[in-house]
Amino acid sequence: MDPTWTVQWFKSILILLDDLSVSIDPSSSIGGGDYVLISHAHGDHVAGFRSKGSKICSSLTAELYSVCYGGRVNEATLLHLPAALKLDSLSIELKEAGHILGSAQFLLSHPEHGVLVYTGDLNVEGSIVTSPADVLNCDVLIVDATFGHPHLKFPPRERLYESIATWTQSVVNAGGTAVLYAHPLGKAQELVKVLNQYVDIEPAVHPKIAKVNEVYAKAGVKLRYIEEDREVREALRGGGAYIVPLRPRPSKLEAANPYKAVVTGWAAVFEYNAFDKAFPLSGHSSFPTLIEYVKQVGARRVYTLGYYAEEMANWIRKRLRIEACSLASRLINRAG
Ligand SMILES: [Zn+2]
Repeated sequence: MDPTWTVQWFKSILILLDDLSVSIDPSSSIGGGDYVLISHAHGDHVAGFRSKGSKICSSLTAELYSVCYGGRVNEATLLHLPAALKLDSLSIELKEAGHILGSAQFLLSHPEHGVLVYTGDLNVEGSIVTSPADVLNCDVLIVDATFGHPHLKFPPRERLYESIATWTQSVVNAGGTAVLYAHPLGKAQELVKVLNQYVDIEPAVHPKIAKVNEVYAKAGVKLRYIEEDREVREALRGGGAYIVPLRPRPSKLEAANPYKAVVTGWAAVFEYNAFDKAFPLSGHSSFPTLIEYVKQVGARRVYTLGYYAEEMANWIRKRLRIEACSLASRLINRAG
């Protein structure tokens, strides 16, 4: 069967079928189709919750959206991963993406068009708090290219965990305060778990992070931490570990001896001179792992999406000799 999916980009991925339209992760509330698929709860993926179409996502994505942004979820089908549903001739499956809690890949099957997979933000190997992504065979693949530049390769996750834990412990042992700046949804929970497990540190966390931690805990991810309040801030003057959101930067900490580290995949791309340390720990896979995924799924057509979409599509066309093009590039995913 020749894959004949009609895939377009207009403020959303648009899949057009004879009898219905599906939009995936629209970047605006006007980018919706009859059905709106939302892959996960990071801020650059949730505009679809405000659109008119009928929403489909994991129940954890909907819960994290409400907790993080205070948004209401209306007209939605909420599913536990892995899940499947049918819309006339179109079947949709939600599969693990490994990126953050509740993050899904979408597998669409149609008797005439074959199988199309949208990975969303993808972490093939998973992390200390997420399962690895499912590898989904398909005819057409729309793949995350956030870190899809051929020169980009993240260090092994285990090694990054050890470096972060060792750095934090050495600051704390010297009586300082290790302040780790990270995305409050996903990365912050991963850091809490790393500090708990590798060096038995129970970090203080910003209230925004504590709210998300509670959702992770309900989903079975055990995290030991102290929610920041005035007393905790006072105690941090004498040293400790403290995890805060990257944006907006919290007000200045009156710590005796603060050392600042930023934790984001973008540390592999950009300089972070305002910090003492930068760890390129990402919720996305980088180039070699993404390419391995592309090879394994056997797609005959690949669309790339994200910051390095052009570079990754070029490489796939030239080196793998698979039809490939970028759907949209230079969309910086701040969640890194
Ligand atoms: Zn994301």
